[in-house]
Amino acid sequence: MVHYFDNTATTRVDDDLAEILRVYGTEKFFNPSARSTYSLQISNDVKAARETISRALGASAGNITFTSGGTEANNLAIFGSVRSKRGNIVVTAAEHSSVYNAVSELGSRGYELRLAKVLPDGHIDVEDFLSKVDDETILACFMHVNNETGAVNDVRLLNQAVKEKNNRTVTFSDGVQAVGKVPVNLRYLGVDLYSFAGHKIHCSKGVGALYVKEGVKQLPLQFGGGQERGLRSGTEYVGGIVAFSQAVSNAVKRVDECERLFKGYKQTILNALKDIPDWRVNCSDNVSPAILSLSFADIKGEVLVHMLEKYEIIVGTGSACSSNSKSSRFVKAIELPPRFVEGVVRISFSKYNTADEVQLLADKLAESVLSLRKTMLG
Ligand code: PLP
Repeated sequence: MVHYFDNTATTRVDDDLAEILRVYGTEKFFNPSARSTYSLQISNDVKAARETISRALGASAGNITFTSGGTEANNLAIFGSVRSKRGNIVVTAAEHSSVYNAVSELGSRGYELRLAKVLPDGHIDVEDFLSKVDDETILACFMHVNNETGAVNDVRLLNQAVKEKNNRTVTFSDGVQAVGKVPVNLRYLGVDLYSFAGHKIHCSKGVGALYVKEGVKQLPLQFGGGQERGLRSGTEYVGGIVAFSQAVSNAVKRVDECERLFKGYKQTILNALKDIPDWRVNCSDNVSPAILSLSFADIKGEVLVHMLEKYEIIVGTGSACSSNSKSSRFVKAIELPPRFVEGVVRISFSKYNTADEVQLLADKLAESVLSLRKTMLG
């Protein structure tokens, strides 16, 4: 049996959601845009899914656009919001590559990129961020929960402060790691654009959404049949959308319960490591309960990950999307002390984890760190 602790990368699909996907694939497979009454029912199912998500996240109906996942939602947010030919974009190096690389592309097309600092625990340096916003800022990107350390940024505060400096700036927050992990009320957060994805909350891969605040004009990136109110043409992934709406609704209801559970799991791991020297928790305040990012001095995170695999324990080394780069952009941004740079391990929980397997992870992690250190010395 695999003990899976890389739920930030992706999670297993809930059985009842897998059943929804099956039903829409094999029985209710009608095209929502066709003319039959069967199709009309499917079109109503998409509408109901949109309303379910809007209610769960405190958005107004009609402002949720379904996409193929977080990356597409982020690209739609970024490329769909730039209208003027020039201006600057404020962002941090802590953003997920689907945001960072998208704004970098805009940089290569002539927009000015302004890179704000990140604090050592992965939070956005708010002061530095705001100092970069001015009359020419067309877009400000500030992620909600950082996928590497779990740092939770104050999206409401950032949004208000950016708007105070320039109320024409479009504000965008990547909420892919936030929905279902921390409370999310889009009206309260106030941002213009907010993205989230299904496969982080026990739905399938291939479905996500972009929230666009009422009154914000967003441009499409793909053209065709005019689905999703013209913002995202293409036949809808109906089963995915219906399952996704259920996943969002379930995840939002479980936020408090998961927080309690995961806090206990974190403590189990920290207790097991307490007699081991030279390691650090990369973010401990204002952090997602689901993510525990640790760095071990003089150890390669990748080696530790493979050692744990021998016990069928899966953890992450940081962002799965940046696992090819030797030391990720993010690790550079948070300026980890050199001895800790390569020793980053990211443990992330889901509701499927049990206290017993967390204890197993904690024991094997401590054992593996000690054994690797011994090998190095000997
Ligand atoms: N944004 C964040 C913060 C993420 O963690 C991820 C995926 O890990 C994405 C965006 C990309 O989402 P997707 O994998 O659905 O394209």
